[in-house]
Amino acid sequence: MAITLNSGFKMPIIGLGVWRMESQQVKDLIHNSIKIGYRHFDCAADYKNEAEVGVALKEAFTSGLVKREDLFITTKLWNSDHGHVIEACKDSLKKLQLDYLDLYLVHFPVATRHTGVGTTDSALGEDGVLDIDTTISLETTWRAMEDLVSMGLVRSIGISNYDIFLTRDCLAYSKIKPAVNQIETHPYFQRDSLIKFCQKHGVCVTAHTPLGGAAANTEWFGTVSCLDDQVLKGLAEKYKKSTAQIALRWGIQRNTVVIPKSSKLERLKENFQVFDFELSKEDMELIRSMDKKYRTNQPARFWGIDLFA
Ligand code: NAP
Repeated sequence: MAITLNSGFKMPIIGLGVWRMESQQVKDLIHNSIKIGYRHFDCAADYKNEAEVGVALKEAFTSGLVKREDLFITTKLWNSDHGHVIEACKDSLKKLQLDYLDLYLVHFPVATRHTGVGTTDSALGEDGVLDIDTTISLETTWRAMEDLVSMGLVRSIGISNYDIFLTRDCLAYSKIKPAVNQIETHPYFQRDSLIKFCQKHGVCVTAHTPLGGAAANTEWFGTVSCLDDQVLKGLAEKYKKSTAQIALRWGIQRNTVVIPKSSKLERLKENFQVFDFELSKEDMELIRSMDKKYRTNQPARFWGIDLFA
């Protein structure tokens, strides 16, 4: 149930993503998920709920629900803080009430106008387009990420939303190799080449949006959910599982870490029950045929620029 990273630390293969969780629900959801068996939480400064996650974690430790060393906590450097990596990480640690992070990721391969540490604004210019800072290179950002490891604040460092070109470059300039590349991938957006490239070079891939964003991305970005696809529905019937469980199991069987988000107790349980069955080789191939190269997380909608163009 865990993947060993190139840093030597183990990362549980399933985690709970906390993006778009209502602040007042965070504590119950985290405590319930720990009771279900989740040991990995995927956070980010930009999710604006690190403080609520911190309160939940503190209570979980003091009540004896779980020990700090048994959890794997990830958070991410926001685009507006590339020039302030150390302060941003310390700010996240303070909000999360932790001494160290298991994993700290560069959230996107882009620096934007600094708006104050931890404020995570995506400031737009007068033209309505994201105000991109062209003075800070990703190598400079990475050097500071490496410093966090020497300072003992972070165990593993990684990247997120990096394509093959940027991942390759990071591998070339890094003294500490990225342990993880967290990217959008699901049955409608399979990205086999990027995943194979990362895995070949020892970079673990975490699948964000592993359910294709389901109803949340339909609401936010108007996208179509893979969970309604006839192929997944057929497999769900065959294995007596839900379409979400089939999508997550497929993610695990391609050696990606999956971090589905749910704010519903029944779904938290459902999404964790993916270790009692295995998809056959033929059914893995069948899912492969579903690929639509279809990105469902589309920040261009808010930023006035398609960074993936
Ligand atoms: P997701 O996990 O693929 O999908 C979440 C949606 O699926 C929500 O609408 C959720 O609704 C629904 N859902 C959850 N379990 C379900 C089930 N069993 N059956 C049917 N629907 C289900 O998408 P995501 O939340 O965007 O991504 C997951 C995590 O990845 C995030 O929380 C975040 O930690 C990370 N992420 C990272 C980046 C990045 O740039 N690095 C970008 C996006 C996401 P309910 O809550 O109502 O159950």
